[in-house]
Amino acid sequence: MSITGELTSALGPTKVLLDEPTLAAYAVDEAPVLDYQLPLAVVFAESVEDVQATVRACAARGVPLVARGAGTGVSGGAHASQGSIVLSLERMNRILDLNPDDETAVVEPGVVNADLNAAAAPHGLMYAPDPASYKRSTIGGNVATNAGGLRCAKYGVTRDSVLALGVVLADGSLIHTGHQTFKGVAGYDLTGLFVGSEGTLGIVVGVTVRLKYLPPEVHTIAAFYPDFRSAAAGVLAVGRARVQPAIMELLDGGSLAHLDAVHGSDLAARGAALLLIQTDGFGADAEAAAIRPLLVAGGAVVTMEANAEAEELVELRRSSRGVGDEDEYRVGEDVAVPRSRLVDYVAELEAMAVTYGVHLKVVAHAGDGNLHPTFWVDRPDSSVDSDALERLGAALDKSVTIALAMGGTITGEHGIGQYKLRWLGLEQKEPVRELQRRIKELFDPAGILNPGKAI
Ligand SMILES: Cc1cc2nc3c(=O)[nH]c(=O)nc-3n(C[C@H](O)[C@H](O)[C@H](O)COP(=O)(O)OP(=O)(O)OC[C@H]3O[C@@H](n4cnc5c(N)ncnc54)[C@H](O)[C@@H]3O)c2cc1C
Repeated sequence: MSITGELTSALGPTKVLLDEPTLAAYAVDEAPVLDYQLPLAVVFAESVEDVQATVRACAARGVPLVARGAGTGVSGGAHASQGSIVLSLERMNRILDLNPDDETAVVEPGVVNADLNAAAAPHGLMYAPDPASYKRSTIGGNVATNAGGLRCAKYGVTRDSVLALGVVLADGSLIHTGHQTFKGVAGYDLTGLFVGSEGTLGIVVGVTVRLKYLPPEVHTIAAFYPDFRSAAAGVLAVGRARVQPAIMELLDGGSLAHLDAVHGSDLAARGAALLLIQTDGFGADAEAAAIRPLLVAGGAVVTMEANAEAEELVELRRSSRGVGDEDEYRVGEDVAVPRSRLVDYVAELEAMAVTYGVHLKVVAHAGDGNLHPTFWVDRPDSSVDSDALERLGAALDKSVTIALAMGGTITGEHGIGQYKLRWLGLEQKEPVRELQRRIKELFDPAGILNPGKAI
C-alpha cells in the first residue's frame, strides 16, 4: 500500500487530503520559493495519536515529513520537500489549561498566538512573545522558530516563555521535556534545544508557557525624525537612560510611505523615520516622561499618542511587513546587530541601496537590534535591466555579511529554514556545524523530519 493509502486508512479521509488545491495551498509558506514541491498528502492531525501514527508511517517508509502551523514562516521552513507529507497541526488548537495562580498555560501546538492572549486577558495575564503575525501564527510554529516580536524588547523571545514541551520524536514515541515550574535545571535543557529547531528534531504536540502580567497602563510615544540614522540613535539614547520600554520599533521613510499608500495614513508627512515606543506597567507614565526629552534632544518631533491613535500606530507597524509579497524581485532580511552598531548598520543599508541601485525599506525591532530590510527591484524588462536580479542578490548578500562583520547574526527571529542555508556557514564554523549534524542524527537518524532545513 502507498504511504497515502496507509495514512488514509489509519486516520480516515477527513484528516488526509490529497486534492490538488489543498496540496498546493500547503506546499509553501510565505518565504520565496527556491524549489517548488507539491507534497504527497496533507495530514490534519487532531490528536497526539494522529501525529504519532503519521510519524510512524513516514518512518517505516523513509518518507520526509514537514510539520506546519499556520504557514506564516518567511524562511521556507514549512515548504514541502520532494515526496513529503505535510503534517498540519492547525486542528490541534485547544487551550488545555490556563492557571492564573501558577501563571502558566498548557496548549496544543495549533493554538493561534492571539487566541491564547485573548484567553489570558480576563485573568490580567498575557502571553508576551507577539510576532507581528500574532493573529495567524500558531504557538507550535512560534516555538519551532523561537519567534520574536514587538514586546520582546522587554519580555524576551519565545524561548524565554516556554517551560515544557510534549514532543513526538522521529520514531513516533512521545516525550515530555522541561518542567511546569518557572525554575528547573534537571539535566540538559532539551526544551531549549527543541525551541527554534524548525521541525527538524521532533514534532511539538504540547506547550507549557509562562504568562506575564497584562500591564495596567500603556503609554505610546511616536518620535518622528528628519532622517533614519537619527531615529536609530534614539534607540541608544533610551537605553543609555536605562529605561526599558516594552516596544521600540523603527520604521524608515520607505516603510512610512508604503503604509500611507496602503492604509491611507499620513505618516510620511510627519517625518522621514519613526521610532515607535511603548512603555508599560505601573511606571509607564514616568518612563515615558523620562524618555521624551531625550528624543527631542536627538532631533525628534515627539507626540504622546492617545489610546486609539496609539493602537492604530502599533497595528500599522504590525502590518508593515505585509506590503508586497516576497519573491525573486522583493527579498526580505532578518539580521540582528549589537545595538551599539544600529546607526552604523542603518547607514550601511542606505549606502548599499544606492550602490546596487535597488529600492530599500526597513522595519526593525530596534530594541533588540533586529532589522528587517526589504530590498526590491522593479520587475525587469529583460532588454533594459537584465542584471536587476544580480544587483538585488548582491545587495542581499552584502546586508548579511556586513551584519556578521559587526558581530551580528543572519537571523534574529525568522529562522534559517531553506532560504538562509546559503549564509549559515558564514556565521557558524565547522566544529559547531558538525555538532549540530550529530544532534540531528541522534534525534532523527533516518533524516525524515523536515530534511534540508535549519542546519
Ligand atoms: C506579516 C508577517 C509578520 C511576521 N512577523 C514576525 C515577527 O514579528 N517575529 C517573528 O519571529 N516572526 C514573524 N513572522 C514570521 C512567522 O510568522 C513566524 O516565524 C511564526 O513563528 C511562524 O508560525 P506558523 O504557525 O505560521 O509556523 P509555520 O510557518 O507553519 O512553520 C514555521 C516552522 O516551524 C515548523 N513547525 C510548525 N509547527 C511545528 C510543530 N508543531 N512542531 C515542530 N515544528 C513545527 C515548520 O516545519 C517550519 O519549519 C512574520 C510573518 C509574517 C507573514
